[in-house]
Amino acid sequence: MNVDPESVPHVVIVGGGFAGIAAARGLRKSNVRVTLIDRNPYSTFQPLLYQVATSTLNPGDVTYFLRALRRRQSNLRVELGNVETMDHQAQTLTLDDGRVVNYDYLIIGTGVSANFFGIPGAQEHALPLYTRQEAIDVRDRINGLLDAATKRQGEKVRLLIVGGGPTGVETAGALAEMRQKDLPVVYPELNEESVEVMLVDMADQVLGAFSDSSSEYTAGELRRRGVNVVLSKSVKEVKADGVVLKSMGEDETEEWTPAAAVLWASGVTVPKAVSNWGVPQVRGGRIPVSDRLRVNDLPNVFAIGDIAAINDGALPQLAQPAKQTGAHVAKVIHGLVHGGDPGPFKYKDLGILATIGRADAVAEVTHLPKLKGFVAWAIWNVVHLATLLGGRNRISSMVNLGTKYLMWGRSHNLIVGDISDFSKNATEGPLSAARSMKRHHHK
Ligand SMILES: Cc1cc2nc3c(=O)[nH]c(=O)nc-3n(C[C@H](O)[C@H](O)[C@H](O)COP(=O)(O)OP(=O)(O)OC[C@H]3O[C@@H](n4cnc5c(N)ncnc54)[C@H](O)[C@@H]3O)c2cc1C
Repeated sequence: MNVDPESVPHVVIVGGGFAGIAAARGLRKSNVRVTLIDRNPYSTFQPLLYQVATSTLNPGDVTYFLRALRRRQSNLRVELGNVETMDHQAQTLTLDDGRVVNYDYLIIGTGVSANFFGIPGAQEHALPLYTRQEAIDVRDRINGLLDAATKRQGEKVRLLIVGGGPTGVETAGALAEMRQKDLPVVYPELNEESVEVMLVDMADQVLGAFSDSSSEYTAGELRRRGVNVVLSKSVKEVKADGVVLKSMGEDETEEWTPAAAVLWASGVTVPKAVSNWGVPQVRGGRIPVSDRLRVNDLPNVFAIGDIAAINDGALPQLAQPAKQTGAHVAKVIHGLVHGGDPGPFKYKDLGILATIGRADAVAEVTHLPKLKGFVAWAIWNVVHLATLLGGRNRISSMVNLGTKYLMWGRSHNLIVGDISDFSKNATEGPLSAARSMKRHHHK
């Protein structure tokens, strides 16, 4: 609907992820003007980022241009900017370029980022997998590393993934497939023994949020696919060429574990910058909100998605809670503007999924028996393709995933980037894809 910009309330949404987009869409028919601010021009579909990192999907397949949301919503403006500070007395935000934005209602949906738990060297050397750029970096560094390894005789390349949650499992599974199916064809200089995929978790099982039977099945399937699954060991320190692992048992022994790449998938936290936003924070830095998603003590400020803690109870940091809280906050604000109250937020748990590789996944879908293997994998594919934003993204992802899984063992056309820098780097000194290693930009 067209609105007179001066006369209607201004709703500012910070963060164009699952939560922020759901909130914006929910306000489509409200008599408000909506400004969606994100530091990127796109929204990232994080559940498929690991496919970018493992050379199957293009970065553009999993990102959606935020301004394209305008097509069906004329009361929406999209602005590029990084929110730095907030003043809730003055009802303003300040962006990194100095612009000041006024709001009548503010919705914070800025999500979370990688948690390095203060482990020495982790932030400096490990490769996180949270953003589009990080996924591209992982992809290029791994391909650069493999290329460099072809020039070294008999040196073992260990790709070590820290964290056995869905992201770690999915990444390990995809790298194991690359090792088994693609390497013999595209890197004949390397053999299966010279490349190892290792998955480490401090717990005694992978996929802690799933049932024991799904966790055991997943660990077994990863091992069958050649992944070295190491449980009950925690990472004490990360260096450019490996990690120190410590046993969780009574002996607490420490061992140096060389690794050419350390991928970080071990958890999330709220970024430090949020402490400048004048909002309360609870465990994990999350912002406490009421059952109407209103930030405690700030009547016009709301928080949704991964960053919010509802009634001090934390919902899982997943796409569904983000979408549902976004849709609900839109109803709350619509009610404040037009009269009415949608009632408290109630989370509808649809279940959890994790894929292990081709034709293999675990699915714990609400009201269905626990599923494993092909059926779970089929559900995983349908859910992920259906929930991608935008027709182009859906079609391009379907084509790229289809090329990998339907032409199984016949197409080895991995999506690669500019790897020569990393390849060159890795031939000097230790074989390493660490973040600390510089990328030499071509002029
Ligand atoms: C690798 C990975 C795999 C995942 N897989 C799954 C899965 O399979 N299933 C599932 O349900 N969930 C999965 N998740 C979790 C899911 O992606 C999140 O729960 C969900 O994205 C949270 O949505 P959100 O809108 O709260 O935050 P986000 O999606 O993180 O969006 C936050 C937005 O805010 C922007 N932003 C941040 N700070 C600022 C700032 N200061 N100024 C301006 N803009 C800012 C960011 O650019 C981003 O666009 C995965 C997450 C990751 C990282």
